[in-house]
Amino acid sequence: MITPPFTFDFDSLRSVVDGAFADMSGDKLAVLAPATGETIVELASATSADTHAAIDAARRAFSTWRSATPARRAEVLLDIAAAIDADAACLSHLESLNVGKPLVASAEEVAGAADCFRYFAGAARNLEGKAAAEYADGYTSLIRREPIGVAGLISAWNYPLMITAWKLGASLAAGNTVVLKPASQTPLTALRLAALIRDVAPAGVINTVFGSGSQVGNALVDSPEVGIVSMTGGTATGKRIAARAADTLKHVHLELGGKAPVIVFGDADPVATAEILKVGSFWNSGQDCGAAARVFAHRSVYDRLLEELVGRAESLSVGDPMADDGVEMGPVAYEARQGEVLDLVNRAVEEGAEVATGGRALAGCGAFVEPTVLTGVGNDHHLARTEVFGPVVDIQPFDDDTDVFALANDTPYGLASSVFTRNIDTAMTASRVLETGTVWINDHMPMAAEMPWGGFKASGYGKDQSMYSLEDYTRVKHVMIRLG
Ligand code: NDP
Repeated sequence: MITPPFTFDFDSLRSVVDGAFADMSGDKLAVLAPATGETIVELASATSADTHAAIDAARRAFSTWRSATPARRAEVLLDIAAAIDADAACLSHLESLNVGKPLVASAEEVAGAADCFRYFAGAARNLEGKAAAEYADGYTSLIRREPIGVAGLISAWNYPLMITAWKLGASLAAGNTVVLKPASQTPLTALRLAALIRDVAPAGVINTVFGSGSQVGNALVDSPEVGIVSMTGGTATGKRIAARAADTLKHVHLELGGKAPVIVFGDADPVATAEILKVGSFWNSGQDCGAAARVFAHRSVYDRLLEELVGRAESLSVGDPMADDGVEMGPVAYEARQGEVLDLVNRAVEEGAEVATGGRALAGCGAFVEPTVLTGVGNDHHLARTEVFGPVVDIQPFDDDTDVFALANDTPYGLASSVFTRNIDTAMTASRVLETGTVWINDHMPMAAEMPWGGFKASGYGKDQSMYSLEDYTRVKHVMIRLG
């Protein structure tokens, strides 16, 4: 077992069902620290039967939680935000230990998670249907926006606390009760949060169950008592969930992979752009569905941009995520990821790509991958069409400002893209023609709780954050009143 660099009782991390810690009857699963490969803790996982108990608790709680006033829901959400703020140091350490991201990044995400709950506290009080009106002679119509019921929330391992906040915040604000399943590799912050907030809402409103996709995930997807399944993860898993959920015709909300194209036009500043891409491509070791993955640079700025990007990749401080000394990038989130990322790089090289820098595991223990920049990756290469989800970016030159949009859109994914230019016409054209759920102009990565995050095409459907997300967790009812 690992000795944590901070005092923490890992045995306090347990599933929470019906407002209380609950014993799970499945196998014990080891939770690892990717920077060292050591076991942090072994946790009892849930079986399908354990998950059904949680679903039952959520169903029972729904009958009262659905009637809670928006003000009451907001109160609960604000209490959750306050609990996160009060525990920020511990949550940040747990996230860094378990996911391998530098402490400074974890701290930023913990603060973002609290802000997300505060946003949804306000949003809960602003959910509205259309005003009543007479659309047919002799009738008054009105619209009710109602919660769906029990929400099954299946989270991913790259932003464990942040994704929890997005899904839990929207679900509760809309009046749903939840069963949350963290990713089994990185459950620590979601379980810590579950312990902190186990009595802020009535028992059964928030249930958190640790376990695998095959046990907990399938039980949530199959249960007729679950009205919506919201999942963040890979496209292949998302497709399986959507197909399986068809059996009960439940709502499905999917935030899946991405392969964000970046277009750098000839009038952009290559130095400033490289500085932005250093964060866009390597933040969280590139394990971000919106990561700047594939750069198209106009030939007039290509050489300079490549040089600047390679320089930044090589000077990136990579190391112990728990060290408080300016480390910018840690390992990837678990050992198998390291192999998957390197396999994709090797395959790209076999298909003709060149490694401008990186491309190898870092020496020593832990799942570290060098920050990697590739050139010579054609749109038909496997790498161009596959989400790497690691610290790997490729950069290609282009000559024709019009053709580049087609190149950027020629991907199965449609989550995010960015464009660097000083020309407002070019920027506005890009924002219209790029087939992605987010288009950044002269930046890559910033987000706001008020604005939606979610993809097109193989990146899924449904939005996280914003009022659009809140609407996704509700259903619309038409009430038609005959007058006289
Ligand atoms: P998965 O998509 O398999 O996992 C995401 C979540 O889905 C986890 O909680 C997982 O549970 C759960 N899950 C897995 N199978 C099922 C199932 N049959 N039914 C219900 N839930 C299920 O991601 P991977 O970890 O395998 O990553 C694969 C790729 O997905 C990555 O390389 C990356 O490309 C992409 N990805 C994208 C993310 C994003 O932000 N959009 C986040 C993570 C991955 P458990 O892990 O406990 O089995």
